[in-house]
Amino acid sequence: MAIDGLPKCLSIRDRKLFMDEQPLSALAEHFQTPLFVFSQSQIRSNIAVLRSALQNQACPVQLYYACKANSNRSILRIMHEAEVNLEVNSGGELWKGLQVGFRGEQILFNGVAKSDAEIEQALAMDVTLIIDSIAELHRCLTLSRYLGKIPRLLLRLIPNVEPLTTQEFQIGTASAKFGMELPEAYRAMEIILSDPNPIQLGLHLHLGGQISCLESFSRNIRFVINFLNDYRHLHLEDNWMPTLINLGGGLPCLFTHLSTTAEQLTGAANAILGATLDFEAFAKELQVLSNEGYRLALEPGRFFVANSAVLLTRVVNEKQREDGTRWLLLDAGCNVLMDVFLYHWLFELVSPDRIGEAHQVPYSVGGPLCDATDVFQSSHGVGHQPLNRSLPVGTGMGDILSFLDVGAYSLEQMNEYNGRLMPAAVLITEQAVQLIRRSQTLEDLFYYDPINE
Ligand code: PLP
Repeated sequence: MAIDGLPKCLSIRDRKLFMDEQPLSALAEHFQTPLFVFSQSQIRSNIAVLRSALQNQACPVQLYYACKANSNRSILRIMHEAEVNLEVNSGGELWKGLQVGFRGEQILFNGVAKSDAEIEQALAMDVTLIIDSIAELHRCLTLSRYLGKIPRLLLRLIPNVEPLTTQEFQIGTASAKFGMELPEAYRAMEIILSDPNPIQLGLHLHLGGQISCLESFSRNIRFVINFLNDYRHLHLEDNWMPTLINLGGGLPCLFTHLSTTAEQLTGAANAILGATLDFEAFAKELQVLSNEGYRLALEPGRFFVANSAVLLTRVVNEKQREDGTRWLLLDAGCNVLMDVFLYHWLFELVSPDRIGEAHQVPYSVGGPLCDATDVFQSSHGVGHQPLNRSLPVGTGMGDILSFLDVGAYSLEQMNEYNGRLMPAAVLITEQAVQLIRRSQTLEDLFYYDPINE
């Protein structure tokens, strides 16, 4: 059975699926299911792939990990050790970053609705704030004067590019809630550049997620160049140079691995999930800006962590309908893989113990939740779901199955809906298999509920 484009950390030995040196089904038996298993080596390798493409093209770029993808303490530590900086989206993420050892100057604070307390904390720690509107700019300037701090700001511009990606991920246009259109951005710049106090000012743009089409990134870069040229043209007298141009995240990860899945997805879904970016060509595009002396940044989330993890789950029920449909019911549902709920996202499902066998028998697969939508395929081929899941013949009760590429936006979003205990996560390092997140206990279910008697 050919499973294409597996991440480096996964290998097939004796017809079984291994992550690094560990047979996955043995981990499931040892730690119980559901279980997230992460590979430290894969995260390091993803960072290295991007860095090496940038180096090959002599294009210096500062990397900021968008930790909304996964802000588990051990994952943040890997980023910190690899000297990747951090992009945070709340006071909570900022707190986590500081706890792990990131310094304020290494952190960018993003978000459309920052509280005064969050802005104050960011300013006090010399964190760079990404400014979403003029209203927010005024609040930042007032608070920075009050604190006697030189604010470090990036203006979030709307690049007006609609990349080829799933519709909900196209957020670089004015119809989305983020950032400023050109007239508002120019007014914001006038406010900043006419302020008597020193202010560090750069730019920020973000197109969306899972963008595998180089042209979208190229259009983003052309937008920045035009913006800078127009600004210079209108303001010949000032010599403003952005401190940093942050071109956002959205670097893609390969999500399709089984030919049976690719055959069922629409062409558009295959183009989004089944393609990766040519990073050398991408770095070449960025070079246009770096050659002009601009300091550049990227803030990938998904690309750094998505393919570093699998979710091990067990078949706990099965049934066959009169029309022949075979159902497998798992102990992990969409509350653990929320992107399936939110975006009909595809996570390939394979049998780690029988990975050497053909995955060609169609199954319907569901999770344990009380919702009919807690399923991993779509009968009308919606979004990024196939019509059914393909597994080895005879897959059934008690078998361990594995969802692939689940390292981004899963631990972050999972929840205890239906009173289901959130699962544990382990990290495979060179030395050991470490527990990096404990599974919930029944007592945890009442953790936030005070007793009012
Ligand atoms: N930067 C910004 C501003 C974002 O909103 C996001 C995701 O929502 C990211 C970076 C990370 O995106 P991705 O995980 O697709 O790289």
